[in-house]
Amino acid sequence: MVPNLPDKWVEINLDAVGKNLQTVKSLLAEGTRLIAVIKADAYGHGAAVTAQLLRDNGVEYFAVSFFREAMQLRQAGIAENILVFSPIISEYELREAIKYNLTITIASLFDWQLLDNVSASVDAEIKIHLKVDTGLGRFGLQAKEVLGLIPKIRKNCRINIEGIYTHMAAAASSPAYTRGQFRSFMQILHQLEEAGLKISLRHCANSAVLLKYPQMQLDAVRIGTLLSGQAPVGIARPDLVLEDPYHFKTRIVSLRKLEKGSYLAYYRSYRLKKAAQVAVIPVGFIDGLALQVGNKPSGWLDLLKTIVKIILLYGNVARFGPQVSIKGIDYPVRGKVFMQMALVEIPPDREVNIGDEVTVPVRKTLTSPDITRIYLHHGKVVKISTKEGGMDSPVELLSIED
Ligand SMILES: *Cc1c(COP(=O)(O)O)cnc(C)c1O
Repeated sequence: MVPNLPDKWVEINLDAVGKNLQTVKSLLAEGTRLIAVIKADAYGHGAAVTAQLLRDNGVEYFAVSFFREAMQLRQAGIAENILVFSPIISEYELREAIKYNLTITIASLFDWQLLDNVSASVDAEIKIHLKVDTGLGRFGLQAKEVLGLIPKIRKNCRINIEGIYTHMAAAASSPAYTRGQFRSFMQILHQLEEAGLKISLRHCANSAVLLKYPQMQLDAVRIGTLLSGQAPVGIARPDLVLEDPYHFKTRIVSLRKLEKGSYLAYYRSYRLKKAAQVAVIPVGFIDGLALQVGNKPSGWLDLLKTIVKIILLYGNVARFGPQVSIKGIDYPVRGKVFMQMALVEIPPDREVNIGDEVTVPVRKTLTSPDITRIYLHHGKVVKISTKEGGMDSPVELLSIED
């Protein structure tokens, strides 16, 4: 298909993003607006290309974490609304954000003061969303602060309070806490209305909330995970048709037959139980293969699950270790993954060859931007981004228009 492929590359299937968008839309109540969250390079799928596809399919509102991410979208020609979640704390960036019509989050009195100062010398309308902290402990005004701030914001005629939002901490795991957060948020909205202020975009739902509490959609939902083809951690919804657009691929670079009892990898970390073909793939932990997230378990049950998983992994139960796919069949990665290599055990009778394509499970958001991305749309390659060959910026070979 594409000549001279590098050692490893990522295929991103934009049709899958389109399908996930339709699935998300089917979950929305009449009148709910969709804010497509494409932070962290659209969860590793490529922010600009993903935004273009979503826009061409009717998405009018985007969100990212940082000012810089928003500016990259503007540079890529995305003229739609872009909400920036993280407070913008530099005056220069605030001015740029206003100039480029970004939607600014006000999450503290500090944020408000800075914007108020900057606004005195700008001529444009400034769109803001207020962020309220109801229990995540990250960004957000306290309820009292919101009410105190309103008269000040209203005095500033350049500022348009378009939206107000909060973010849920544990929608997948703690119903009582989630309902409590929702109640706090509704109470603030109620108080604002009593004070005569009706804000048109009220939102609190991420992917997990949309799935578990559809009644919490309010005016808009902020969705990232579902668009990227995954159900949120801790939520099983087999009825949902989601498709992963992202496939990290490589090729077999060595293939040898080894005897039963042979040791594999550093520390003799695996011993073949039968004779096998052992394939080497040029993918290692630097690519995010077999990397475990070292977060503190969130509770008793989580701790127990983590321990059981480690024990099954130790027992080499294939399903609990990384598996790669060759011609549609899964094979286990054996032994400790190397920095840039890994070993795959394949039964002796399987027809595989050096050069065969291998699909590898990696952490999408950790994949180096140096690795070539191949974008597919309607089954055709529409764009290749590569830094290979000493080029330091993505090269657009084909446009995304079909
Ligand atoms: C990342 C993020 C979202 C999207 O959450 P998903 O669970 O990925 O849908 C929504 N809101 C905020 C504030 C976020 O940071």
